[in-house]
Amino acid sequence: MGKALIIGCGGVASVAIHKCVQNSEVFEEICIASRTKSKCDELKAKLDGGKTKITTAQVDANNVDELIALIEEVKPDIVINLALPYQDLPIMDACLATKTHYMDTANYEPEDTAKFEYKWQWEYHERFEKAGITALLGSGFDPGVTGVFSAYALKHHFDEIEQIDILDCNAGDHGYPFATNFNPEINIREVSANGRYWENGEWIETKPMEIKRVYNFPEVGEKDMYLLYHEELESLAKNILGLKRIRFFMTFGQSYLTHLKCLENVGMTSIEPIEFEGNQIIPLKFLKAVLPDPASLGPRTKGKTNIGCIFKGKKDGKDKTYYVYNVCDHEECYKEVDSQAVSYTTGVPAMIGAMMLMTGTWNKSGVYNIEEFDPDPFMEALNKWGLPWKENFDPELVDSDSIKLSE
Ligand code: NDP
Repeated sequence: MGKALIIGCGGVASVAIHKCVQNSEVFEEICIASRTKSKCDELKAKLDGGKTKITTAQVDANNVDELIALIEEVKPDIVINLALPYQDLPIMDACLATKTHYMDTANYEPEDTAKFEYKWQWEYHERFEKAGITALLGSGFDPGVTGVFSAYALKHHFDEIEQIDILDCNAGDHGYPFATNFNPEINIREVSANGRYWENGEWIETKPMEIKRVYNFPEVGEKDMYLLYHEELESLAKNILGLKRIRFFMTFGQSYLTHLKCLENVGMTSIEPIEFEGNQIIPLKFLKAVLPDPASLGPRTKGKTNIGCIFKGKKDGKDKTYYVYNVCDHEECYKEVDSQAVSYTTGVPAMIGAMMLMTGTWNKSGVYNIEEFDPDPFMEALNKWGLPWKENFDPELVDSDSIKLSE
């Protein structure tokens, strides 16, 4: 069918690349390009021998000219951005210059301010539309599958969705007192920021981890979860018409929270540069260097993830609730693709999103979030490619309607 250029070769990219190689009818050829080429070469050596032809390249994805030169050389049908959120805009610029489809799993965030918003990427809409190419934003799990679940719920189960609660539970145990399951810098920026949810057309801000709930997750059990801001809240609040409230909760264990608080208290999570022995260093980047590499957690992580959405709304004039979720087992993922479930649940939808564009199943020019496409072929592909979903029409709800009940 075609050729993809994959930028980045970390935890998520490794899973997506394994899945592209399993899906060689669509991905006949892939080029893996990243800052550290040796990682791309190692993965190629491991996966070579199948039907997908694999090449590798070195690229600095902050450099638009380098990216354009690479895209012109490789001539891919799509660029799959699995580097970091800081690289979204340069990669989108290079896709525009070469009229190539674009896809990512995380929205743009300036490196020097921990603030992620879609506004920068949405501004590219008209230029992508004019160029006749598509940018698919946020094709991981959350954002990604959570948007597909929302579009699917609206298409098949509701006339109107009034409330969405996105619940992200990782009950995996890697045996370390403190480690992050994906890029520590991005993870810590996300969880140490203020919380935010959307209600009646307004954003309501909370202090980090201010709102706590306990939820009994199917196949996992009872866990503490905390309200966070998460990027799909912004696009779903805009794209699911009639929505009155949307919130996002993520589970954290006590050990993680205690360590995080301590690191924050001593200034180790700061992104302000400091002077150290004559060098400028950013404490959070230094912390990343001393923490376990998320890729190394794979062989030691046991347990499951459960990520899904609970919807409340109306169907045929009656109140209705609907819960759709996926449960993923860390050890099963490791057996299949040498990665734990957090990378797996992101890498599989990344491959599927790219497949939707490469096969022309999703075909409209411009910049779109994932919930703006027909969810059905994506839902079908989730079942086929390793992330089967389950439904419950009478789920336990997170709480009553009054929200500031915390602790
Ligand atoms: P990793 O840190 O494991 O991998 C990032 C990769 O990008 C590395 O290979 C890194 O290269 C490469 N890279 C970084 N900067 C550049 C650059 N300037 N030029 C070229 N390559 C570069 O991160 P993850 O795999 O954990 O995460 C990848 C993306 O997925 C992130 O954007 C993250 O936010 C997103 N994500 C999305 C989720 C979702 O559900 N939607 C969930 C989890 C993650 P090097 O090897 O040299 O460091």
